[in-house]
Amino acid sequence: MPLPQLKVRTYPDPCLRRKSQKVKAVGPGERLLIQSMITAMYAHKGVGLAAPQVGINQQIFVADIGQGPMAVINPQVVEQHGSTVLEEGCLSIPGVTVKIKRPKKILVKYMDEENTIVQREFSDLMARVFLHESDHLFGKLIVDYVGLRQKKEVQKHLKMLEDIQKNPQESSSQNISNSKKASEKNANA
Ligand SMILES: [Zn+2]
Repeated sequence: MPLPQLKVRTYPDPCLRRKSQKVKAVGPGERLLIQSMITAMYAHKGVGLAAPQVGINQQIFVADIGQGPMAVINPQVVEQHGSTVLEEGCLSIPGVTVKIKRPKKILVKYMDEENTIVQREFSDLMARVFLHESDHLFGKLIVDYVGLRQKKEVQKHLKMLEDIQKNPQESSSQNISNSKKASEKNANA
């Protein structure tokens, strides 16, 4: 069966703000979704992609920071330690990057695609991707972490994305190409 082509939703799509439902069990439908999400993540050169980003409000995300793809279902953070600050981008908010302070190390619990409950420790980039994607499952976006200094600039950009969504033809191609350039610099999830 060919994989369904998934479209990555961008701000202000309402799917991105909805809380996602817990998955009872992973079956053929969920596995097909996971495979399609991995394909979409690679197509967009992302390091992570959460189901709400493709319009499905279920607690599923995929990630690959260069060690092969993994699927995470119903994630839970059990413990967190230390903190680091890094600039993050998001495939759903092209052109915006935000410096975010997150724990350096986390202990997490989740279900894998074989319905096995896994407990694992992640640090640095993988911890960051895990938390970024988990945020998506609760309707939280990188722009929610913006500090006062960056607020005006980010609001202006979000307004531009809202206008693009409302009026795809009339938006200037200049703005969109700038957004692309900005998002290529960083690891997007
Ligand atoms: Zn994201």
